[in-house]
Amino acid sequence: MTEELSAEKRMIYDSIRENYIEITENIARAAEKSGRKAEDISFLAATKTVEPELINYAISLGLKKIGENKVQELLSKYDEYDLDNTELHFIGHLQTNKVRQIVGKVSMIQSVDSIRLAKEISRLSVKNCVSTDILIEVNIGREENKSGVLTENLYELIEEISRLENIKVKGLMSVPPICDDKQEISKFFDNMYKLFIDISSKKSDNVSMDFLSMGMSDDYQEAILCGANMIRIGSRLFGARIYR
Ligand SMILES: *Cc1c(COP(=O)(O)O)cnc(C)c1O
Repeated sequence: MTEELSAEKRMIYDSIRENYIEITENIARAAEKSGRKAEDISFLAATKTVEPELINYAISLGLKKIGENKVQELLSKYDEYDLDNTELHFIGHLQTNKVRQIVGKVSMIQSVDSIRLAKEISRLSVKNCVSTDILIEVNIGREENKSGVLTENLYELIEEISRLENIKVKGLMSVPPICDDKQEISKFFDNMYKLFIDISSKKSDNVSMDFLSMGMSDDYQEAILCGANMIRIGSRLFGARIYR
């Protein structure tokens, strides 16, 4: 029984290791093609539904960033993550009334899309004597059912957030529409990159465009070619998600 179990575990570990190596090689190739180095690209593992033991195994391979997208799940796994050399990010839709539960626990909140949410992050960061790094989530595909600020409201939102205390805008994040063809998705990535460059050139206080977080399992190489420097990968690393 134990032997069978460990054989199964070993298979899962092996596949995570193989996937990790394949992804990092692909990242290096895409980085080079776009005139950058592998280390210029942050590889964040999206860890929803993945048990902490497997997350920690991926961390042991060299992963420097992990991201959860649900507050409840993040809290339930929090004590088990091996975060000595790894950052924990929040990457999902965040309700204002749940900010309290993650401020001080996460290195970055990638999914800020309203002034209301930013004010609450600022308020609780001041209260907890921390500074919270955030990315602004952009709804680049203008999808009604999706989070993210619309591009016409992006500049004003960043301007307003830049005046808040203990919160720092570090870049942009996006989850573009699901596209069957790579050219179609690359248009969304290109548009994100243009916004990223344009805002970078404005150089305002408390705003530094360090990260452009876009690209997931099916399109991270296209995203890097279009200028992403942070990609968020779940299923390509850990295998298909099993929701319980
Ligand atoms: C789940 C998730 C990802 C990764 O998705 P995969 O397709 O499994 O790579 C990336 N970003 C966010 C915000 C997610 O919730």
